[in-house]
Amino acid sequence: MSGSEKQLFGLFAHPVGHSLSPVMHNRAFQALGLPYHYHPFDVSPQDLPEAVAGLKALGIKGINVTIPHKERIVPLLDELDPEAKAIGAVNTVVLSKQGRLVGYNTDGAGYVQSLLTETGVNLEQTRVLLLGAGGAAKAIAIYLIKNGCTSVTIANRTEQKAETLANHIRHYANAKNRQETNGPLTSLQVDVLSWTFLEQQGVTDYQLIINTTPVGMWPHVEQTPLALQGLKPGTVVSDIVYNPLCTAFLNNAKQLGATVHQGLGMFIYQGALAFKLFTGYDAPLDVMRQVVLKQLNLSSA
Ligand code: NAP
Repeated sequence: MSGSEKQLFGLFAHPVGHSLSPVMHNRAFQALGLPYHYHPFDVSPQDLPEAVAGLKALGIKGINVTIPHKERIVPLLDELDPEAKAIGAVNTVVLSKQGRLVGYNTDGAGYVQSLLTETGVNLEQTRVLLLGAGGAAKAIAIYLIKNGCTSVTIANRTEQKAETLANHIRHYANAKNRQETNGPLTSLQVDVLSWTFLEQQGVTDYQLIINTTPVGMWPHVEQTPLALQGLKPGTVVSDIVYNPLCTAFLNNAKQLGATVHQGLGMFIYQGALAFKLFTGYDAPLDVMRQVVLKQLNLSSA
């Protein structure tokens, strides 16, 4: 792709108003001197098929996709990358040189890049507690396994959804292992715990605790998903909510001696990976972080 040609990118969401992706990508294009534009499109669920067909017709080179379209868009695409297929959801679509719409999911990879860069945690030796079993949890779980994690315990308000996610992860891990070593993965431990049991038992057994629920998100900033009873100092506690930047959950964890990992990094890295897929260029991470931080400060002021 030539960097001197005008190109249009965008976001499909409903509603789309509050998203920080347009300002982040447009600032990144500007920093690299690319004459590209990223536009937010408010696409209702019933209009999604026509909007996707319109991408080819209009020559829009790439889009991000968010609530409520991440799963619904899958059957409308020509191809999926293997991890997006395993997750069953897409947050980035690229129009290839051959004119095919290819779906990717950069949420899980973005989360793991942020986690490894910011905490240095060794996933192979880490017992993970995942709070929540929605779309973000699924993307994160797949990438934790892809990056060597061998122990995941899931707790979710609706326990049946935690069971479904656990089965999904086992299936992915076995398929991955069969491909790589010709045998089933024997060392992977995936468990489900009831929320009540987890509250009674405490979190002593885990070295990484990840909140993937929206609990604690602005304006309900005083709420936390779980009392961190029995938390060992040095445990990494991570929250994918990034507004506020440091949630009540992370503040509690910090007071108990944990290393905390904020959700902003996931947002920046998932955007940076999409940017690379869109443009072929490495994303200007610092520029993207600064503009998002500025917007978050303005919106919470
Ligand atoms: P989702 O698919 O709707 O899943 C939400 C999950 O949270 C479900 O497991 C749900 O449990 C649980 N949950 C919701 N309300 C709860 C409550 N009051 N108490 C306990 N559990 C609750 O949503 P998602 O797409 O995974 O997104 C989840 C959060 O991650 C959102 O806040 C989103 O903004 C954030 N996120 C951040 C990034 C980032 O870049 N940092 C990226 C993606 C998402 P049930 O199964 O019982 O309903």
